[in-house]
Amino acid sequence: MNRLIRGIGSSCWVPRHRQTICLGARSRLYSHGDAVKSIDTSFQKVLHEYEGINTQNVRVLNVQRGEKATSVDIVGMLRSKNINDILSIYSKIDCKDLSNNTLGNDVEPRVWHGHLQSLPAYMGPFQMVFVHADAMEESEEKDILRQCSLITRPGGSVVIWSSCKVVCDEPLIEYATHNLCLELADTSPNVLVFSVPDNFALQGGIRCMEGEIVKGYGRGSKNLGVPTANLSPVDVQGDIAGLPSGVYFGWAKLKTSETQQESDGLVHKMVMNIGKRPTFIKDNSPDISIEVHVMHSFQQDFYGQRMKVLVVGYLRPEMKFDTIEILLNRIQTDIGVSRTQLDGEVWSRYAEDPFFD
Ligand code: ADP
Ligand code: MG
Repeated sequence: MNRLIRGIGSSCWVPRHRQTICLGARSRLYSHGDAVKSIDTSFQKVLHEYEGINTQNVRVLNVQRGEKATSVDIVGMLRSKNINDILSIYSKIDCKDLSNNTLGNDVEPRVWHGHLQSLPAYMGPFQMVFVHADAMEESEEKDILRQCSLITRPGGSVVIWSSCKVVCDEPLIEYATHNLCLELADTSPNVLVFSVPDNFALQGGIRCMEGEIVKGYGRGSKNLGVPTANLSPVDVQGDIAGLPSGVYFGWAKLKTSETQQESDGLVHKMVMNIGKRPTFIKDNSPDISIEVHVMHSFQQDFYGQRMKVLVVGYLRPEMKFDTIEILLNRIQTDIGVSRTQLDGEVWSRYAEDPFFD
């Protein structure tokens, strides 16, 4: 995360295990004490949302480099708000040295000694994820942020902080807001707060599109149990402009024509992938595909027909999966999450949107 030390030369930063003193012009204006105070203020803002509500089900992840206490006592702060379901990850400790990886009903926060990437999904999702910037190397900050966004509930926050580094970093903010579709909720030199939009709502509002269903790459989505109707990129390119590659959800309806009858006239739930299909494409070829899996069992294929699609939410960025099994697992998760969202009050009414008339 060294790149995050923006505007301050590397000589200004003294590793905390030696001495937590920053040198240089900028840090004279902004002392360690000021930093800790401003971090505390930002954290209190994040926690304010949980004031006066039942905090029993609020689950928090705290990612830090090692077991050593950090300059802000996150656990103590959470506990003072009656938030006790806390999982800590110590990212730079060799798990072989430790016998107890996860402590069940202990008084102390539960601990996961290992990488964030290896955290089992059942341990989340979290309402808040705090990441100490020291736990991130420059090369992995985007991966960590992406991972954090995937395990944070809609409406929840990802907080990146450090008392001796400037974490407010333009490229990282750009990646978070554009590629991960996170909202920038708060920013100060030492804290970045991103939030996952409520109900995964697509930034800039819903998008409607209509396109012809064309032949795909013949990579056998159907054989994997998740056929995807590929929309003609030419038909929808204007409608998807500005959307990052990734997984979306919403509603879809097949249009019936005189020659092609495969339509029940109903609006169905759908998950959509916009992207370059990195799991399959090895040569980085830039072809974009817009693929819609309709959550319905059709009797026949419907190539050549037109489909209306209304996109309401964004789930996750496109990711590279090591095996087809892992990809399939993730697709099933995406379908499950989308189904739940579309059954909810906020998105279910869009099935009756006049767009489908
Ligand atoms: P391709 O690579 O040509 O897109 P797929 O294996 O992805 O092939 O199969 C997609 C085709 O399957 C669609 O074009 C459509 O005609 C058909 N199909 C059948 N059921 C569905 C469904 N529930 N969702 C999407 N497409 C479906
Ligand atoms: Mg397909």
